[in-house]
Amino acid sequence: MIDLLSMTYEELGAMLKEMGQPKFRAKQLYEWLNRGASWDEMRNLPTILREQLAKNCTANPIEIERSITSKIDGTQKFLFRLMDGNLVEGVLMRYHHGATLCLSTQVGCKMGCAFCASTLDGCVRNLTPGEMLGQVVLIHRRLMESGSRIANLVLMGSGEPLDNYDNVLKFIRLAIDERGLNLSTRGISLSTCGLVPEMDRLSKEGLQLTLSLSLHASNDKIRREIMPIANVYTIQQTLDACKRYIEKTGRRVILEYALIDSVNDDLAHADELSRLLRGMQCHVNLIPLNEVAERNLRPPSPERVRAFLTRLEHRHISATVRREMGSDIQGACGQLRRHAMNQAQ
Ligand code: SAH
Repeated sequence: MIDLLSMTYEELGAMLKEMGQPKFRAKQLYEWLNRGASWDEMRNLPTILREQLAKNCTANPIEIERSITSKIDGTQKFLFRLMDGNLVEGVLMRYHHGATLCLSTQVGCKMGCAFCASTLDGCVRNLTPGEMLGQVVLIHRRLMESGSRIANLVLMGSGEPLDNYDNVLKFIRLAIDERGLNLSTRGISLSTCGLVPEMDRLSKEGLQLTLSLSLHASNDKIRREIMPIANVYTIQQTLDACKRYIEKTGRRVILEYALIDSVNDDLAHADELSRLLRGMQCHVNLIPLNEVAERNLRPPSPERVRAFLTRLEHRHISATVRREMGSDIQGACGQLRRHAMNQAQ
């Protein structure tokens, strides 16, 4: 089966040309694919062509298996089925300024962070560009039907996006293509646990993406205890890569810091973090840890979270506590996994 959503406009054009089709068919088909249309809906394409395509190709390699909605904030979690039967999750959050879709980039994850559910079963495989775009297209279609649209995309579902570099970059270029979904590049955030060579590569793509770094510790000792990647790159090496990203793209970097009770939530850690970040064009997102059943880690009390934030502010570090969405449906950061909705819920 050829996954048409993985193809660029030009690749689609070349395929149609080989099938003896006139040039304008590429535009027609590309638009339909990006709108999430079924073969039947592609009415301006000849029936014979549609039949030919349907035999060998898929218009969207993704199906929505199920969705659940948070009673607290209306956040929706989607379970997507891939053609080989694998499942990935995505989360749709509605803010005043529009909807944000949180996407998965891999089935599972191999990074092994101690606090995250996505990595519990390891990484099964990378998602293709079409499987990532397919998630966006399906949700976009639903939103359009209710007069809304996707304003922001965050690559913060399961998987490490920079561990699936080529597919993720092809997907981003497809998602921002004016002839397709035409999403804004600045509205796309890519979050990484800190793969330094790939961060450098990303800085040279000429894209104004928002880069988020999952930092989660103010020194290497603590970071190594909770994030295996810290054994490969030191915090200094990782922050230096962030600085190069800022220099090349002119974009500030977001630093994610999950506050974990008795691990990284001391005021001394806030001081240490402030020293690390002094003078850097960045913003710190504090996330009180979301609990994952299999992990024995807890968030600090709200008072301690506030104290940590206040200390950073006193040290002139731009920081906020992130409003968690969808925690009652296990849809918050670090709670996405392969089979969640097949289990308790
Ligand atoms: N692999 C990428 C993308 C995952 S994004 C990365 O590491 O950045 C998911 C974000 O949620 C990351 O910042 C991750 O560190 C954070 N996270 C994971 N588990 C969490 C948890 N239990 N509570 C709060 N944040 C968590």
